Amino acid sequence: MAKTMKAAIVDKPNVITIKQVAVPEIADNEVLIKVKYTGICGTDWSIYTGKYSADKLPLIAGHEFSGVIAQVGKAARGLKEGDRVTADINMACGTCYYCRRGQKLMCRDFHQLGIHVDGTYAEYVKAPYDQVHILPDGLSFMAGAFIEPVSCVIHSSKAAKVTHGSSVAVIGSGLGVLHGLLARLRGAAPVIVIGDNEKRLAIAKEFGVDVTINIKDGKDPVAEVKKLTGGRGADFVVEAVGTPATYEQAFRMVRPGGTLAAFGICAGDDTITVKPFDLVLGEMTVVGSCAGVGPDWPDAMALIAAGHIKPESMFSMVVPLEELESALKELRSNPDLIKVFVSADISKREILAK
Ligand SMILES: [Zn+2]
Ligand SMILES: [Zn+2]
Repeated sequence: MAKTMKAAIVDKPNVITIKQVAVPEIADNEVLIKVKYTGICGTDWSIYTGKYSADKLPLIAGHEFSGVIAQVGKAARGLKEGDRVTADINMACGTCYYCRRGQKLMCRDFHQLGIHVDGTYAEYVKAPYDQVHILPDGLSFMAGAFIEPVSCVIHSSKAAKVTHGSSVAVIGSGLGVLHGLLARLRGAAPVIVIGDNEKRLAIAKEFGVDVTINIKDGKDPVAEVKKLTGGRGADFVVEAVGTPATYEQAFRMVRPGGTLAAFGICAGDDTITVKPFDLVLGEMTVVGSCAGVGPDWPDAMALIAAGHIKPESMFSMVVPLEELESALKELRSNPDLIKVFVSADISKREILAK
Protein backbone atom coordinates (compact mmCIF):
# COMPACT_ATOMS: atom_id res chain seq x y z
CA MET A 1 0.00 0.00 0.00
CA ALA A 2 1.46 3.35 -1.07
CA LYS A 3 2.12 5.86 1.71
CA THR A 4 1.76 8.95 -0.45
CA MET A 5 -0.52 9.94 -3.28
CA LYS A 6 -0.97 12.59 -5.91
CA ALA A 7 -3.62 15.20 -5.09
CA ALA A 8 -4.89 18.47 -6.54
CA ILE A 9 -5.19 20.89 -3.66
CA VAL A 10 -7.00 24.22 -3.61
CA ASP A 11 -4.35 26.01 -1.53
CA LYS A 12 -6.06 29.38 -1.58
CA PRO A 13 -8.62 31.03 -3.86
CA ASN A 14 -7.65 30.66 -7.54
CA VAL A 15 -4.61 28.49 -6.78
CA ILE A 16 -4.56 24.71 -7.33
CA THR A 17 -1.30 22.82 -6.78
CA ILE A 18 -0.57 19.20 -7.60
CA LYS A 19 1.28 17.67 -4.67
CA GLN A 20 2.36 14.38 -3.13
CA VAL A 21 0.52 14.08 0.16
CA ALA A 22 -0.06 11.29 2.68
CA VAL A 23 -2.68 8.69 1.76
CA PRO A 24 -5.61 9.23 4.19
CA GLU A 25 -5.50 6.98 7.26
CA ILE A 26 -8.81 5.28 7.88
CA ALA A 27 -10.61 4.89 11.20
CA ASP A 28 -12.31 1.59 12.11
CA ASN A 29 -15.62 2.76 10.64
CA GLU A 30 -14.10 4.00 7.37
CA VAL A 31 -12.95 2.60 4.04
CA LEU A 32 -10.19 3.78 1.73
CA ILE A 33 -11.21 4.11 -1.90
CA LYS A 34 -8.89 4.27 -4.93
CA VAL A 35 -10.57 6.96 -7.02
CA LYS A 36 -11.39 6.18 -10.68
CA TYR A 37 -13.23 9.25 -11.92
CA THR A 38 -14.46 12.53 -10.46
CA GLY A 39 -16.99 14.68 -12.27
CA ILE A 40 -16.38 18.43 -12.19
CA CYS A 41 -19.30 20.27 -10.59
CA GLY A 42 -20.23 23.97 -10.36
CA THR A 43 -19.52 23.73 -6.64
CA ASP A 44 -15.86 23.00 -7.46
CA TRP A 45 -15.66 26.31 -9.29
CA SER A 46 -17.14 28.09 -6.24
CA ILE A 47 -14.54 26.40 -3.99
CA TYR A 48 -11.71 27.20 -6.42
CA THR A 49 -12.68 30.87 -6.63
CA GLY A 50 -13.15 31.22 -2.86
CA LYS A 51 -16.92 31.80 -2.94
CA TYR A 52 -17.60 28.61 -1.04
CA SER A 53 -15.74 26.72 1.72
CA ALA A 54 -13.00 29.43 1.83
CA ASP A 55 -12.56 28.67 5.56
CA LYS A 56 -11.76 25.02 4.72
CA LEU A 57 -8.72 25.73 2.51
CA PRO A 58 -6.33 24.11 1.80
CA LEU A 59 -8.75 21.43 0.60
CA ILE A 60 -8.85 18.52 -1.83
CA ALA A 61 -12.17 19.18 -3.57
CA GLY A 62 -14.08 16.67 -5.73
CA HIS A 63 -17.29 14.89 -4.71
CA GLU A 64 -18.92 13.25 -7.77
CA PHE A 65 -16.88 10.10 -7.94
CA SER A 66 -16.46 6.36 -8.33
CA GLY A 67 -13.66 4.05 -7.32
CA VAL A 68 -12.55 0.72 -5.90
CA ILE A 69 -12.21 -0.12 -2.21
CA ALA A 70 -8.53 -0.46 -1.33
CA GLN A 71 -8.77 -0.97 2.42
CA VAL A 72 -11.60 -1.70 4.86
CA GLY A 73 -11.76 -0.52 8.50
CA LYS A 74 -12.30 -3.11 11.27
CA ALA A 75 -15.86 -1.99 11.98
CA ALA A 76 -16.96 -1.59 8.36
CA ARG A 77 -19.78 -4.01 7.47
CA GLY A 78 -20.89 -5.37 4.10
CA LEU A 79 -17.93 -4.09 2.08
CA LYS A 80 -14.69 -5.65 0.94
CA GLU A 81 -11.50 -4.79 -0.90
CA GLY A 82 -12.08 -4.62 -4.64
CA ASP A 83 -15.74 -3.52 -4.42
CA ARG A 84 -16.66 -0.96 -7.10
CA VAL A 85 -18.25 1.93 -5.24
CA THR A 86 -19.34 5.51 -4.90
CA ALA A 87 -20.28 7.32 -1.69
CA ASP A 88 -23.09 9.53 -0.46
CA ILE A 89 -21.14 12.71 0.30
CA ASN A 90 -23.57 14.04 2.92
CA MET A 91 -22.43 13.44 6.47
CA ALA A 92 -24.26 14.50 9.61
CA CYS A 93 -24.00 14.08 13.38
CA GLY A 94 -26.91 11.64 13.68
CA THR A 95 -28.08 12.92 17.07
CA CYS A 96 -29.23 16.56 16.68
CA TYR A 97 -32.80 17.89 16.40
CA TYR A 98 -32.74 17.62 12.58
CA CYS A 99 -30.98 14.27 12.30
CA ARG A 100 -33.49 12.74 14.75
CA ARG A 101 -36.29 13.93 12.49
CA GLY A 102 -34.76 12.45 9.36
CA GLN A 103 -33.63 15.83 8.02
CA LYS A 104 -29.95 15.03 7.77
CA LEU A 105 -29.30 17.82 5.27
CA MET A 106 -30.32 20.40 7.90
CA CYS A 107 -27.87 19.03 10.52
CA ARG A 108 -25.93 21.84 12.19
CA ASP A 109 -22.82 19.67 11.98
CA PHE A 110 -23.45 18.88 8.31
CA HIS A 111 -20.39 18.32 6.15
CA GLN A 112 -19.87 17.03 2.63
CA LEU A 113 -17.02 15.02 1.21
CA GLY A 114 -14.96 17.20 -1.15
CA ILE A 115 -16.72 20.37 -0.03
CA HIS A 116 -16.02 20.61 3.71
CA VAL A 117 -13.57 17.70 4.11
CA ASP A 118 -11.00 16.29 1.66
CA GLY A 119 -12.53 14.76 -1.46
CA THR A 120 -11.59 12.93 -4.61
CA TYR A 121 -9.28 15.06 -6.77
CA ALA A 122 -6.60 12.65 -5.60
CA GLU A 123 -5.62 9.02 -5.97
CA TYR A 124 -7.37 7.99 -2.74
CA VAL A 125 -10.21 9.19 -0.54
CA LYS A 126 -11.62 7.89 2.72
CA ALA A 127 -15.30 7.70 3.60
CA PRO A 128 -17.41 6.29 6.46
CA TYR A 129 -18.48 2.78 5.40
CA ASP A 130 -22.18 3.47 5.88
CA GLN A 131 -22.00 6.25 3.27
CA VAL A 132 -20.60 3.90 0.63
CA HIS A 133 -22.74 2.33 -2.12
CA ILE A 134 -21.67 -0.65 -4.22
CA LEU A 135 -22.15 0.02 -7.93
CA PRO A 136 -24.53 -2.42 -9.64
CA ASP A 137 -22.91 -4.74 -12.23
CA GLY A 138 -23.05 -3.17 -15.64
CA LEU A 139 -22.91 0.37 -14.28
CA SER A 140 -19.66 1.88 -15.57
CA PHE A 141 -17.21 3.76 -13.38
CA MET A 142 -17.96 6.88 -15.37
CA ALA A 143 -21.71 6.59 -14.80
CA GLY A 144 -20.80 5.78 -11.18
CA ALA A 145 -19.20 9.21 -10.92
CA PHE A 146 -22.46 10.73 -12.16
CA ILE A 147 -24.73 9.22 -9.48
CA GLU A 148 -24.33 12.22 -7.16
CA PRO A 149 -25.85 14.79 -9.56
CA VAL A 150 -28.60 12.33 -10.57
CA SER A 151 -29.41 11.76 -6.87
CA CYS A 152 -29.78 15.55 -6.41
CA VAL A 153 -32.26 15.77 -9.27
CA ILE A 154 -34.17 12.75 -7.89
CA HIS A 155 -34.35 14.43 -4.47
CA SER A 156 -35.93 17.50 -6.06
CA SER A 157 -38.26 15.41 -8.22
CA LYS A 158 -39.52 13.50 -5.17
CA ALA A 159 -40.08 16.76 -3.28
CA ALA A 160 -42.12 18.25 -6.15
CA LYS A 161 -44.27 15.07 -6.53
CA VAL A 162 -44.93 15.51 -10.26
CA THR A 163 -48.04 13.56 -11.31
CA HIS A 164 -49.15 11.82 -14.54
CA GLY A 165 -50.36 14.15 -17.24
CA SER A 166 -49.25 17.33 -15.50
CA SER A 167 -47.25 19.96 -17.34
CA VAL A 168 -43.66 20.56 -16.26
CA ALA A 169 -41.46 23.49 -17.31
CA VAL A 170 -37.77 23.34 -16.45
CA ILE A 171 -35.70 26.52 -16.57
CA GLY A 172 -32.10 25.55 -17.30
CA SER A 173 -30.36 23.09 -19.60
CA GLY A 174 -27.50 21.93 -17.39
CA LEU A 175 -28.92 19.44 -14.88
CA GLY A 176 -32.22 20.83 -16.22
CA VAL A 177 -32.13 18.22 -18.97
CA LEU A 178 -32.17 15.52 -16.27
CA HIS A 179 -35.09 17.25 -14.56
CA GLY A 180 -36.87 17.02 -17.92
CA LEU A 181 -36.08 13.32 -18.17
CA LEU A 182 -37.27 12.59 -14.61
CA ALA A 183 -40.50 14.49 -15.29
CA ARG A 184 -41.00 12.19 -18.29
CA LEU A 185 -40.32 9.15 -16.11
CA ARG A 186 -43.00 10.39 -13.69
CA GLY A 187 -45.52 10.58 -16.54
CA ALA A 188 -45.70 14.35 -16.99
CA ALA A 189 -46.97 15.88 -20.24
CA PRO A 190 -45.99 18.12 -21.79
CA VAL A 191 -42.44 18.47 -20.51
CA ILE A 192 -40.76 21.74 -21.52
CA VAL A 193 -37.07 22.56 -21.09
CA ILE A 194 -35.83 26.12 -21.45
CA GLY A 195 -32.15 26.84 -22.13
CA ASP A 196 -29.70 28.86 -24.17
CA ASN A 197 -27.58 26.14 -25.80
CA GLU A 198 -28.73 24.11 -28.81
CA LYS A 199 -26.48 21.16 -28.02
CA ARG A 200 -27.87 20.79 -24.50
CA LEU A 201 -31.45 21.25 -25.71
CA ALA A 202 -30.85 18.52 -28.30
CA ILE A 203 -29.91 16.19 -25.43
CA ALA A 204 -33.15 17.17 -23.65
CA LYS A 205 -35.01 16.14 -26.82
CA GLU A 206 -33.08 12.87 -26.93
CA PHE A 207 -34.21 12.33 -23.31
CA GLY A 208 -37.82 12.52 -24.48
CA VAL A 209 -38.68 16.11 -23.55
CA ASP A 210 -41.66 17.32 -25.59
CA VAL A 211 -40.72 20.95 -26.21
CA THR A 212 -37.47 22.88 -25.91
CA ILE A 213 -37.27 26.67 -25.89
CA ASN A 214 -33.99 28.40 -26.75
CA ILE A 215 -34.08 31.85 -25.16
CA LYS A 216 -31.48 32.97 -27.73
CA ASP A 217 -34.37 32.98 -30.22
CA GLY A 218 -35.58 36.08 -28.37
CA LYS A 219 -38.88 34.61 -27.19
CA ASP A 220 -40.20 35.31 -23.69
CA PRO A 221 -40.12 31.91 -21.95
CA VAL A 222 -42.99 32.80 -19.60
CA ALA A 223 -45.26 33.70 -22.53
CA GLU A 224 -44.16 30.56 -24.41
CA VAL A 225 -44.94 28.28 -21.46
CA LYS A 226 -48.34 29.93 -21.00
CA LYS A 227 -49.05 29.39 -24.71
CA LEU A 228 -48.29 25.68 -24.26
CA THR A 229 -50.48 25.35 -21.15
CA GLY A 230 -53.78 26.93 -22.11
CA GLY A 231 -52.68 30.35 -20.88
CA ARG A 232 -52.43 29.11 -17.28
CA GLY A 233 -48.73 28.47 -16.73
CA ALA A 234 -47.18 25.08 -15.94
CA ASP A 235 -48.47 22.78 -13.20
CA PHE A 236 -44.86 22.35 -12.07
CA VAL A 237 -41.89 24.63 -12.69
CA VAL A 238 -38.31 23.66 -11.87
CA GLU A 239 -35.76 26.46 -11.50
CA ALA A 240 -32.41 24.86 -12.35
CA VAL A 241 -30.26 27.90 -13.18
CA GLY A 242 -29.77 29.76 -9.91
CA THR A 243 -30.14 33.45 -10.73
CA PRO A 244 -32.63 35.96 -9.27
CA ALA A 245 -33.97 36.73 -12.77
CA THR A 246 -34.78 33.09 -13.57
CA TYR A 247 -36.34 32.58 -10.12
CA GLU A 248 -38.64 35.56 -10.73
CA GLN A 249 -39.48 34.02 -14.12
CA ALA A 250 -40.24 30.71 -12.43
CA PHE A 251 -42.75 32.37 -10.07
CA ARG A 252 -44.51 33.91 -13.07
CA MET A 253 -44.46 30.63 -14.99
CA VAL A 254 -46.38 28.50 -12.43
CA ARG A 255 -50.14 28.24 -12.79
CA PRO A 256 -52.40 29.14 -9.85
CA GLY A 257 -52.36 26.17 -7.47
CA GLY A 258 -49.11 24.90 -8.99
CA THR A 259 -45.73 23.91 -7.58
CA LEU A 260 -42.33 25.52 -7.94
CA ALA A 261 -39.26 23.37 -7.31
CA ALA A 262 -36.28 25.49 -6.28
CA PHE A 263 -33.10 23.70 -7.39
CA GLY A 264 -30.64 26.27 -8.85
CA ILE A 265 -28.27 27.75 -6.28
CA CYS A 266 -28.08 31.57 -6.14
CA ALA A 267 -25.42 33.59 -4.32
CA GLY A 268 -25.98 33.65 -0.55
CA ASP A 269 -27.12 37.28 -0.51
CA ASP A 270 -29.25 37.26 -3.69
CA THR A 271 -32.90 38.29 -3.22
CA ILE A 272 -35.96 38.24 -5.47
CA THR A 273 -39.25 40.11 -5.62
CA VAL A 274 -42.33 37.92 -5.15
CA LYS A 275 -45.91 39.07 -4.60
CA PRO A 276 -47.21 37.40 -1.41
CA PHE A 277 -50.68 38.07 -2.85
CA ASP A 278 -49.99 35.50 -5.61
CA LEU A 279 -48.72 32.97 -3.10
CA VAL A 280 -51.87 33.22 -0.97
CA LEU A 281 -54.57 33.56 -3.61
CA GLY A 282 -52.67 31.30 -6.01
CA GLU A 283 -52.14 28.64 -3.31
CA MET A 284 -48.67 28.08 -4.69
CA THR A 285 -46.39 25.36 -3.31
CA VAL A 286 -42.65 26.03 -3.23
CA VAL A 287 -40.33 23.11 -2.50
CA GLY A 288 -36.59 23.46 -1.99
CA SER A 289 -34.10 20.64 -2.28
CA CYS A 290 -30.43 20.87 -1.49
CA ALA A 291 -28.85 17.50 -2.31
CA GLY A 292 -29.44 13.84 -2.99
CA VAL A 293 -29.29 11.87 0.24
CA GLY A 294 -30.03 8.40 1.65
CA PRO A 295 -32.38 6.46 -0.65
CA ASP A 296 -31.90 8.96 -3.49
CA TRP A 297 -28.56 7.23 -4.13
CA PRO A 298 -29.77 3.65 -4.72
CA ASP A 299 -32.72 5.13 -6.63
CA ALA A 300 -30.30 6.96 -8.95
CA MET A 301 -28.23 3.79 -9.39
CA ALA A 302 -31.31 1.71 -10.20
CA LEU A 303 -32.49 4.15 -12.88
CA ILE A 304 -29.06 4.29 -14.53
CA ALA A 305 -28.42 0.53 -14.25
CA ALA A 306 -31.78 -0.24 -15.87
CA GLY A 307 -31.08 2.21 -18.69
CA HIS A 308 -33.97 4.54 -17.86
CA ILE A 309 -31.37 7.25 -17.47
CA LYS A 310 -28.60 7.07 -20.08
CA PRO A 311 -26.36 9.95 -19.09
CA GLU A 312 -23.53 9.19 -21.54
CA SER A 313 -24.58 11.86 -24.04
CA MET A 314 -23.88 14.43 -21.29
CA PHE A 315 -20.28 13.21 -20.88
CA SER A 316 -17.87 15.51 -22.73
CA MET A 317 -14.32 14.49 -21.79
CA VAL A 318 -11.88 13.11 -19.22
CA VAL A 319 -8.80 15.11 -18.25
CA PRO A 320 -5.76 14.13 -16.16
CA LEU A 321 -5.63 15.41 -12.58
CA GLU A 322 -2.95 17.90 -13.65
CA GLU A 323 -5.49 19.59 -15.96
CA LEU A 324 -8.16 20.13 -13.28
CA GLU A 325 -7.52 23.87 -13.07
CA SER A 326 -7.61 24.43 -16.83
CA ALA A 327 -10.72 22.25 -17.16
CA LEU A 328 -12.48 24.32 -14.48
CA LYS A 329 -11.81 27.41 -16.62
CA GLU A 330 -12.77 25.72 -19.89
CA LEU A 331 -16.13 24.75 -18.40
CA ARG A 332 -16.82 28.45 -17.72
CA SER A 333 -15.94 29.56 -21.24
CA ASN A 334 -17.23 26.68 -23.40
CA PRO A 335 -20.98 26.02 -22.99
CA ASP A 336 -20.71 22.96 -25.26
CA LEU A 337 -18.87 21.14 -22.47
CA ILE A 338 -21.36 19.46 -20.17
CA LYS A 339 -19.85 16.86 -17.82
CA VAL A 340 -16.08 16.75 -17.61
CA PHE A 341 -14.38 14.03 -15.57
CA VAL A 342 -10.97 14.04 -13.93
CA SER A 343 -8.77 10.97 -13.54
CA ALA A 344 -5.43 10.53 -11.81
CA ASP A 345 -4.80 7.41 -13.93
CA ILE A 346 -4.41 9.10 -17.33
CA SER A 347 -1.79 11.46 -18.73
CA LYS A 348 -3.66 12.79 -21.76
CA ARG A 349 -7.22 14.08 -22.11
CA GLU A 350 -9.83 11.87 -23.78
CA ILE A 351 -12.70 13.42 -25.72
CA LEU A 352 -15.96 11.48 -25.23
CA ALA A 353 -18.73 13.34 -27.08
CA LYS A 354 -18.47 15.52 -30.16
ZN1 LIG B 1 -21.87 18.27 -7.48
ZN1 LIG C 1 -27.23 16.32 13.12
